Amino acid sequence: MKHVLIIHTGGTISMLENKDTGEVNSAEMHPLTEVTDQLKNYANIDEHIIFDLPSPQITPGHMLEIARKISEVIDEYDGIVVTHGTDTLEETAYFLDLVLDTNKPVILTGAMRSSNEIGSDALYNLISSLRVTTDDEARNKGVLVVMNDEIHTAESVTKTSTSNVATFQSPQFGPIGMVTKDSIIFHRTVLTRHSQSVLEKLSKDVFLLKAYAGMDEHLINAIIDARPDGLVIEGLGQGNLPKTTVQPLQRLIKENIPVVLVSRCYQGVVQPTYGYDGGGKQLKEMGIIFSRGLSGPKARIRLLVALETTQNLNEIKNLFEKYD
Ligand code: ASP
Repeated sequence: MKHVLIIHTGGTISMLENKDTGEVNSAEMHPLTEVTDQLKNYANIDEHIIFDLPSPQITPGHMLEIARKISEVIDEYDGIVVTHGTDTLEETAYFLDLVLDTNKPVILTGAMRSSNEIGSDALYNLISSLRVTTDDEARNKGVLVVMNDEIHTAESVTKTSTSNVATFQSPQFGPIGMVTKDSIIFHRTVLTRHSQSVLEKLSKDVFLLKAYAGMDEHLINAIIDARPDGLVIEGLGQGNLPKTTVQPLQRLIKENIPVVLVSRCYQGVVQPTYGYDGGGKQLKEMGIIFSRGLSGPKARIRLLVALETTQNLNEIKNLFEKYD
C-alpha cells in the first residue's frame, strides 16, 4: 500500500454544522480524524493538522508554510493530500504548483457541505483524493484539485458556484481527469508548468483590481499611495481598460512597478488587439505585462512568487508571456 500524508488546513471539510442554528463552524475535534479507519482501505495514512482556518483567513504566508511542510516530508511519502477551505483553495493550489519541486502527486481537496450536513461531500472528496494520489498516472502533473469526481490542474481550476458541490471547474479546457466508482481516468496531460524551488520568504505586496465601465483613476492612485510592489488588473475583454486608468498606470510603470493584465472574462487570453486609448495595443506598448490565461488571483500569486527572485520587468514579462 502507498503511504500518503494528509495535511489539514481547515475549511468546511474540517467543520461541523450546528443542528440548532444551522451555522457551520470549526469543530473542537477535527471531524475527519474520526474517519481515519475508513481511509486506511486506500493507503497507509499519516495526518497532520497544520492549521484549522477558514480559507478566507489563509494568507500567502500560510501557503508558504504548507509548501515548506510538504518539501520537508515529501521524500517519506508517495503523495500528499491537502484539505482546504474552498474559497481560496485555487490560490493555495496554484502557489504550491509554482514552488514545489516534486513529481509526486500533491492533491488539494475540500467540501461544500461540512461532515455532518445532509449530502456532505467531505469524506467522499477526501477518499477520491486518496484514490487519485495513489494512482501512478497522477505523477508528473503538478498540483491537482480533486472535487466532485473531477480532477483539475491547479493552474486552470476555479470556484464557480457559491454553494453547489460541482463548484470547481476549469473554464478554459475542462478537467484533466475523472474519478469513477472503480477507476481514475486521466484524459489529457500537462504540457507546461512553471515550477521553481521553495521560497525562503514572501515579502512583497501585490494588489489585484477588477476593471469596470466608468472606472477612473482613484483606485489606482490609492494603490500607488500604498507603495505596492506589483499590481494585477483584471481588464475588459481581450485586454482593454477605460482610458482614465492609463495615466496612473504609466506612473507605476515609470517607477519600475510591474503591472500585469489579465482578462475579467473567464475564457480566452489577453492580447494587444485594440489601438484606441486604453486599448490593449496601447497598454502593451506602455509596458503592461500581458498574462497568458491566468485568472486575476492566480496572476497575483505568480507575481508575488516572481518578485522574490527578480524585480527586472523584462524577466517578469517573460515569466508571464512565455510558456516553455
Ligand atoms: N468558507 C469556507 C472556506 O473556504 C468554504 C469552504 O470551505 O467550502 O473555508
